[in-house]
Amino acid sequence: LMILALFASSLTLVVGYWRGFELIELFLFTLAMAVSAIPEGLPAAITVTLAVGVSRMAGRHAIIRRLDAVETLGSVTAVCTDKTGTLTTNQMTVQKIFLAGRMVDVSGIGFQPEGGFELDKVPLKASEDESLAMFLKIAALCNDASLKTHKEEKDRWEILGDPTEGALVVASAKAGLQKSELDESYPRIDEIPFDPKNRYMSTIHRTASGEVLALLKGAPETILDMCSRVLENGKLADLTREKKDDYLAAGSQMAGEALRVLAMAYVTIAPEEIENFKSNGPGNLIFSGFSGMIDPPRPEAIRSVKLCKRAGIKVTMATGDHKVTAQAIAREIGIYEEGSKVLTGQDLDGLSDDELDGLIQESSVFARVSPQHKHRIVQSLQRRGHIVAMTGDGVNDAPALKAAEIGIAMGITGTDVTKETADMILTDDNFQSIVNAVEEGRVIFENIRKVVKYLISTNAGEILTILVALIFLAINVLIFTPVQILWVNLVTDGLLVINLAMEPKEEDVMDQPPRDPRANIINMDIIKNVLFVAAFMAAGTLFVFTRELNGGDIYRAQTLGFTTLAMFQIFNALNCRSRDKSVFQIGLFSNKYLIVAIAVSVILQMLATTLPFFQMALGTVALSLNDWATIFAVSSTVFLADELRKLIKRKGMRSD
Ligand code: ADP
Ligand code: MG
Repeated sequence: LMILALFASSLTLVVGYWRGFELIELFLFTLAMAVSAIPEGLPAAITVTLAVGVSRMAGRHAIIRRLDAVETLGSVTAVCTDKTGTLTTNQMTVQKIFLAGRMVDVSGIGFQPEGGFELDKVPLKASEDESLAMFLKIAALCNDASLKTHKEEKDRWEILGDPTEGALVVASAKAGLQKSELDESYPRIDEIPFDPKNRYMSTIHRTASGEVLALLKGAPETILDMCSRVLENGKLADLTREKKDDYLAAGSQMAGEALRVLAMAYVTIAPEEIENFKSNGPGNLIFSGFSGMIDPPRPEAIRSVKLCKRAGIKVTMATGDHKVTAQAIAREIGIYEEGSKVLTGQDLDGLSDDELDGLIQESSVFARVSPQHKHRIVQSLQRRGHIVAMTGDGVNDAPALKAAEIGIAMGITGTDVTKETADMILTDDNFQSIVNAVEEGRVIFENIRKVVKYLISTNAGEILTILVALIFLAINVLIFTPVQILWVNLVTDGLLVINLAMEPKEEDVMDQPPRDPRANIINMDIIKNVLFVAAFMAAGTLFVFTRELNGGDIYRAQTLGFTTLAMFQIFNALNCRSRDKSVFQIGLFSNKYLIVAIAVSVILQMLATTLPFFQMALGTVALSLNDWATIFAVSSTVFLADELRKLIKRKGMRSD
C-alpha cells in the first residue's frame, strides 16, 4: 500500500510539472497527497480492533493472553474439548450403586444429603447391610472432598474439592455416615494420590483395633484387575473370571446410561507392608462395588455444538472417562452421531500416525485418553489441515495446549502451568465460552477487513480524483488545496475508521465455514469494490467541481469539490459496515459509535466552510443550502450504488 501511495504521489508530481504547475505549489500538494494516501492509520486501527475484541471476549468469559490469538480464533476449524465440567455441569450425583451382584438405586438430587437407598423398590439401610456399609465407608474415606452448608443459606449444601468425590461424600451422608466422623475413627496415615494416568487413588487408614486398612477408588477395569476376592452380600468370595466379566458388564451398562462409573475396593494389610503396597502397587484386593453418577450435560453445550456444526467447525471430545460413558454423553450433546468413531487411548496406542490421520476426520470421541494422547490428536488434526483449539486442565496437558493453535486453559479447575501455556483462559470452564470466543474472533477479523476496505477505498477515491483532474482537465488550478487534502484525511481516516472497528457482529457470522487461514485480508472482492467506489467518488467530485468552475469562481469550485469528497467518505463508511448486507438490514443505528462519528464529521465539515478561521486556513468559502443539497445528492450516489450492488449480490446468492 505504501508503494502504491508513493507511486501515485510521484506520478502526480511528474504529471503536474508537465502540465506547467509551479514546483513549490506542486510539491506541497504532492506531499499532502502522500500523507493522505499512506494508510498510516492502519496499524493503530487494527490494534484498536483487536483490543476492542479482547475486552468484548473478556466480558464473555474468555481471557485472551496473546493479542494475535484473536485473529487465529476466527479461523479455528476443530475444537477438541474436555468432557467433565466443560460439556457437563459437574453437578455430580450418585444415582446407582452396584454391590457385586445387586443394583441399588439412590434417591435425591445435587449435593443435598437427603435421600435413601432402594433395592428392587425396597428400602435398604447401611446399618443392616454390611456390603453397602463397607462401600459407603470406602467412598467417604478414600476421598479428599468435603461437604459444607452454605455460609448464608443454611439449607443449601456445597462441596469443597472435586465434584466426583463430593458426590460420594453426599451419598454416604444419605446413609448417615458423615465423612468428618469417619475420618476420626479411621485416621488416614498414608496415601497414593489420584493420578489420571493410573486412574485410581488409595488411602491407608488405621482402624480402632489397630489394623491397617487400604481403601481404593478408581476406574472399574483398573480396580477389578487388582482384585482377587469380592465382598458379596456381606461375605467374602473368590473373584472368578465369570464374576469379573459379569461385574464389568454391569459397569458397562451403567456407563451406557451416561453414568460416570467408579469402583471401590479394600484390603487389610500389615503395618510393615505399607511401603511395599505404595511402591509396588496394590494387589490382592477385595472388590466392593461401583458407584454410578450422573453429570448432566450443560444445556448451552448442546446449543453450542449445533452452532459449531453450522459454522463448519469439527467438535471432538477427549476425556479420561470410560468409553461407554463418554459416548453416551457425547450422543446427548450432539458430538457423537451414528457412524462416527469412538477411539480409546488403547486404540490410539495401536495406531501409527498415518493410520490415525486416516481415522481422525470421522472420530468424534476419544475416551480413556492421557495427556500424551491429546498431544497426538492435536498433531493429527493439524496434519489434516485443521486449525485446532484444545482444552486442558492438568499439568500434563501443557504440551498439547502448546501444540494447538489455540490452547485453552480452565480458569476454575485448571492448574497454573496450563494457564501459563494457554492462549486463552475460560473463566467459567464452559464449552459455550469457547464457541463465543470463536464467534468474536470471526467478528473481529471481519471488522479488520471492513476497516482496511474503508481506508483503501477512501484513499483510492482521493488519489483517483486528483490524478484524473490533473491529467484530463484543461485547467490551470489544482482541484484541492494541500490543506484540504489533509483535512479530508483527518476527518475521514481517523474519526470514522476507529469507529468502524466497533461494528457489532452480523447475524450470520456462524453460518459460514471457517475462513482459510492463508487468505489475504485484502482479497479480490475488496479490490473490485474499492475500484468501484473510487470511480464514483472521482466522477462525482469532478462533476461538482467542473460545473462550478465554469461559473468562474475557483474558490467556490474547490470548496464544493472538497466538501463533496468529504461527504463521499461518510457515505462510504456506511457501505463498509457490511460486505453483502444492506445498512437497513443490519440496522442504520446499530453501531452507535459510528453514528456519533458521522455526526461529528458532518458538523466539522460544515464548520470548515463557515468559520472564518477555517475559511482562511483551508481556502474555503461559505456554501448555500442549495450547494449542500447538490453535494448531498451527488455524494449519496456511492451509497445507493453500493446498496444496489449488494442487493444484486444477495439475489444472485439466493438463486444459486
Ligand atoms: P475425566 O475427568 O475427563 O473423566 P480424568 O483423567 O480426570 O478424566 O480421570 C480419568 C479416570 O480416572 C476417570 O474416568 C475415573 O475413572 C478415574 N477418576 C477420576 N477422578 C478420580 C478420583 N478422584 N478418584 C479415583 N478415580 C478417579
Ligand atoms: Mg477429572
